[in-house]
Amino acid sequence: MLYLDRNENNYGPAPACFEVLRTSDLTQLSWYDRSFTRGIQGVLSERLASDFGIPEDRVVLGYGAENILKQTVRCYLRPGETLLVPAYSWWYYRKIASEVGGRSVEYPMVQGEDRFSYDLPGLLEVAVREQPSIVFISSPNNPTGNSLDVGDLRSALARLRSSVVVLDEAYVFHTRTDYVRDLVQEYPNLIVVRTFSKYFALAGARIGFALLGSNLGILATHMHRYLGYHRLSEGLALAALDSPGYYKEIAEKMERDKLAYYAELGSIPGWRVFRSDANFVLAEIPAGCGEKLQHYLLEREIAVKFMAEPLLRSHVRITLGTTEENGRVIDAIKAFRP
Ligand code: PMP
Repeated sequence: MLYLDRNENNYGPAPACFEVLRTSDLTQLSWYDRSFTRGIQGVLSERLASDFGIPEDRVVLGYGAENILKQTVRCYLRPGETLLVPAYSWWYYRKIASEVGGRSVEYPMVQGEDRFSYDLPGLLEVAVREQPSIVFISSPNNPTGNSLDVGDLRSALARLRSSVVVLDEAYVFHTRTDYVRDLVQEYPNLIVVRTFSKYFALAGARIGFALLGSNLGILATHMHRYLGYHRLSEGLALAALDSPGYYKEIAEKMERDKLAYYAELGSIPGWRVFRSDANFVLAEIPAGCGEKLQHYLLEREIAVKFMAEPLLRSHVRITLGTTEENGRVIDAIKAFRP
C-alpha cells in the first residue's frame, strides 16, 4: 500500500540517521543522560537553543508536536474557557480542548479560487468577542496548505496580547530560524511548535519541539524533563539537523511535484487543486464521486485522505510521495472515470 494519507515524508530519513542507529552504543541506554549536571535538559535542546538563538530553558521537547500541543492546552485552558481554531484545521485541536472541558470556537479562513488564506480581520473580530485563553494558528495549515505570512502574524500577535498564541509550524518545509527567534523575543505570549516528523522524515521517532515566549515559564516547568530526553531520538534529530542538503533536495523535488499536481489534476473537469506550502495538496473533486474514487484508488493500493468535515465534504488531501509515487497517483487519477 502506498500511504499518502498522513502527511509523512516517503523519502525517508537522511543517511546520517541510519548511521546513528548503526553506530549507537546501546550500553549507554543503561544510564540517564547527565546533561542536567550542566544545568540543561539535554543535547538536543542545547542544539536547538543555539540554532534558534534563544535560551535553552525556553526550548521544550515533546513526544511529537502532538504531545506539546496537548500539554499546552492542559497548562493554559481551564474548563469552560475558549480555544480559537481556524475554521479548517486539524481535528486534534478541538479534541484536546474538549478533553479538559474547554470550548473550541472557529475563526474564518477564506477559500479563494486556487488557494485558501487566513482572514486577519475575521480572526481578530472573533478574538475580541470570545476573549480566548488560547489561539491556535497553523502555518502551513492542515488540511488547506496555506500559510500566514510573518507580517500578518505580527499584526495578529500585536492584538492578541492577552491570549497564549500557539503557532503550529509542523509543516514548514524549510529550516529558517531567524523570524522565529525574533517573534519569540518580541511576543512573550507566543509558542512556536515544530516537529521532526514531516520535513525531517522522522515521524516514527516522535520528536517535536517548541520555542517559548518569556511569559510561558509555567509551560516550561510543566514540560521540562529533569532526567533527559530519549537518547536515541536525540541522536536521530541531531543527525537530521546536520544533513541540510539532503532535506533541501527533497523539499525542492516536492515543490516541483506540487506544480505537476496543480497542472495535471487541476485540468480534470470538476477538479480544483489548492496551492500548498506544505508536503500535501488539497483538492476539491466533483460532488458525489468521493466514495467511488476512494475505492478505485484502494484497489490500486493508493491511500489518500478523503475529508469528512462539514466544510470539506468533496475534498481529498494527498500527501506528496516521492516523484515516482506522485506520478503513479496522478496517472491513476487521470484514468479514473466517475
Ligand atoms: N500539527 C499538525 C497541523 C499536524 O497535522 C500534525 C500531524 N498530523 C502534528 C502537528 C503532529 O505532528 P507530530 O506529533 O508527528 O510531531
